[in-house]
Amino acid sequence: TQKVHIIGGGLAGSEAAWQLARRGFSVRLSEMRGTGERTPAHQGDGLAELVCSNSFRSDDDEKNAVGLLHHEMRACDSLIMAAAHVAAVPAGSALAVDREVFSAEVERRLTALPNVEIVRERIDVLPTQGTTIIATGPLTAEALAHSIGAATGSDSLAFFDAIAPIVYRDSVDMDVCWMASRWDKPSKTGGGTKDYINCPMNKEQYLAFHQALIDGEKTVFKDWEASTPYFDGCMPIEVMAERGVETLRFGPMKPVGLDNPHWATEEHPNGRWPYAVVQLRQDNKLGTLFNMVGFQTKLKHAEQVRLFRTIPGLENAEFARLGGLHRNTFLNSPVLLDRQLRLRSAPHVRFAGQITGCEGYVESSAVGLMAGLMTAAELAGRPWTTPPRTTAMGALLAHITGDAEAETFQPMNVNFGLFPPLHDVKKKARKEAYTARAKDEIGPWLETLTHA
Ligand code: FAD
Repeated sequence: TQKVHIIGGGLAGSEAAWQLARRGFSVRLSEMRGTGERTPAHQGDGLAELVCSNSFRSDDDEKNAVGLLHHEMRACDSLIMAAAHVAAVPAGSALAVDREVFSAEVERRLTALPNVEIVRERIDVLPTQGTTIIATGPLTAEALAHSIGAATGSDSLAFFDAIAPIVYRDSVDMDVCWMASRWDKPSKTGGGTKDYINCPMNKEQYLAFHQALIDGEKTVFKDWEASTPYFDGCMPIEVMAERGVETLRFGPMKPVGLDNPHWATEEHPNGRWPYAVVQLRQDNKLGTLFNMVGFQTKLKHAEQVRLFRTIPGLENAEFARLGGLHRNTFLNSPVLLDRQLRLRSAPHVRFAGQITGCEGYVESSAVGLMAGLMTAAELAGRPWTTPPRTTAMGALLAHITGDAEAETFQPMNVNFGLFPPLHDVKKKARKEAYTARAKDEIGPWLETLTHA
């Protein structure tokens, strides 16, 4: 059988390689990191490196669309989900991982497969023949991006993603901060009710901080960058601050459900909610690093250090990484790709991961998983059955490959808005109804996947 060429050993490429190799197909996985070359966001050479947050978001498969996607991927023997399980760290009801352990586990499992050849090389030109999967991500190296642009006859779109800073745990003042999850909610995945470090602010501190964010010195955009829009899920904290004085208090600095025990009184023995809270989430297995949840930023580095040290409890904070901002490249998939993620103008080329216009680690991995399954079916001469539109995988795929408006196409997280609506179900029960329907309907589809 012919070898499938997968370009990009990130989340999607690794998952696609796994799905193909487990079905007996040979794979050449080309990854440019390890040759001395890196994207502006990757820091190491390991496969499937998580470039920003260490979280795969909610693991709740009853009320949450991304949790449902986890569930479906696990049912498809997902490499990314299996490695995440091994690398999991406490994060309330979310699935978060130690990024080093996670990447090493992905690489270990792929290396153990005899039919996967991992080659450290940068590919600059879209292959003109041979079954190919392009999974080079939002930071696709420039030459290949141009080659893709030339082949599709369209300029790749670009927008910005921002990175949140990471703080060393032992530099946080726990006489001021405290550990708690919102509403003391325990985690389904073995986490506890006290997984986050919370930094409390009173009203005066919050207002001063809000103003300082607006006044702070930002990295200046280059001309071509100035008109690039932000993706809502990764909006810089200072841009959010500019939207209004309350925006942060209803967003990342939300204090609800967070009783501060340092503020306990006779009347309020558990303490009280601060006016605003900065939450830090564990970032590695050892528990030595915590990231500032929602604090992605384009403030200058020195400004970040100065300003974030005004947050109560972070006066002496040391940063393992400061925030930053990066460009994101993706295709206008609804126009350029067919329903099987193949380039209409060159159907031997399939795309996978964030470059297809999905957004997020889990979504990118899920699209990689589906690209692997589609390729396997094609090579085996079997018809490909699309996952039901009512499942998270089906909803995401349908959005990317045609249901989205091509003119306003923007990278998309999985969400219940992509599912066929259940108007008859009362709003309160609707999320559970979506997930229950998906779990019912995915069963027969899973049976169509032949495990060669
Ligand atoms: P990647 O994981 O980026 O993998 C692509 C791989 O291809 C890389 O290893 C790269 O080195 C390689 N490559 C690129 N060009 C070539 C070439 N020409 N030849 C060979 N190899 C090549 N999602 C979240 O869920 N949470 C977040 O916090 C988050 N933060 C982000 C922050 C930034 C700065 C960016 C850019 C994205 C962020 N995302 C986040 C979005 C997205 O989920 C991730 O980028 C995700 O890694 C995408 O998976 P992927 O497999 O498509 O691409």
